[in-house]
Amino acid sequence: MRVVHSALEMQAIANKYREWGKRIGFVPTMGYLHEGHLSLVRRAKEDNDVVFVSIFVNPLQFAPNEDLDRYPRDIERDEALLEGEGVDFVFYPSVEDMYPDGFQTYVEVDKLTRVLEGKSRPTHFRGVTTVVAKLFNITKPHRAYFGKKDAQQLIVIKRMVKDLNMDIEIVGMPIVRESDGLALSSRNKYLNEEERRQAVCLYRALLRAKELIENGEKDAQAIKNEMERVIKEYPLARIDYISVNSLSSLEPINEVKDGDTLVSLAVFLGSTRLIDNMWF
Ligand code: AMP
Repeated sequence: MRVVHSALEMQAIANKYREWGKRIGFVPTMGYLHEGHLSLVRRAKEDNDVVFVSIFVNPLQFAPNEDLDRYPRDIERDEALLEGEGVDFVFYPSVEDMYPDGFQTYVEVDKLTRVLEGKSRPTHFRGVTTVVAKLFNITKPHRAYFGKKDAQQLIVIKRMVKDLNMDIEIVGMPIVRESDGLALSSRNKYLNEEERRQAVCLYRALLRAKELIENGEKDAQAIKNEMERVIKEYPLARIDYISVNSLSSLEPINEVKDGDTLVSLAVFLGSTRLIDNMWF
């Protein structure tokens, strides 16, 4: 496994693999890797001839009041994990290399980014789509892998790829969870012991939604009310939003529609903001 710091060098390597007719699989991450990330890497290994993983904590997708400075990092551990998975190249650029002086070009997906996470974090997706577009141009993948954990991100990236005619297959992967159901996230590290125990409330609320939907409940408000009731059983939890949306348009919906429903929520445990979702 090789660790590449320079975008130019990474691009030259990608060009070589393309010349040789190799299929490139790409997994973008912000590092501090866990089994969720590794599930993407394993799938990329299965599907492609060569796998590139990027590790880059992208300042552009953090608002000034967010956790950029304290976002957890452990590059040595990450490298060891990726080496263990048989990854070929890790792209680990500096902020200066990604955003040199004079940088002023952004990629923006419009309507899909105004709801849900985009409402709570208005500058977030512009940062995500800009960095992912750059990473795609640098690593030139045939396929790129994203987790359903960040459902809106996956949907926004798919839209960007379609709208900008990027010749890349976007693969969405299932959410990997702890044994109690908490979705794995690098941010789980911020939780203290009691917050960690109560963080299961997101999954519990989603399970309740699932149960209701499987029993024929269609009314989005009834589902949200029940989810709110579940969350309120956990005193450390503070709801940011609970939402039922169309998976295709991300517009809020009043009625569950089979195959086109995203139930999602964002909840603070202390000062840590966690998100989770289920697709129906
Ligand atoms: P991040 O490092 O948080 O930017 O995540 C990098 C990629 O891993 C994104 O596509 C995430 O959706 C995905 N990911 C993060 N957590 C999970 C999880 N628990 N299960 C599946 N994929 C995940």
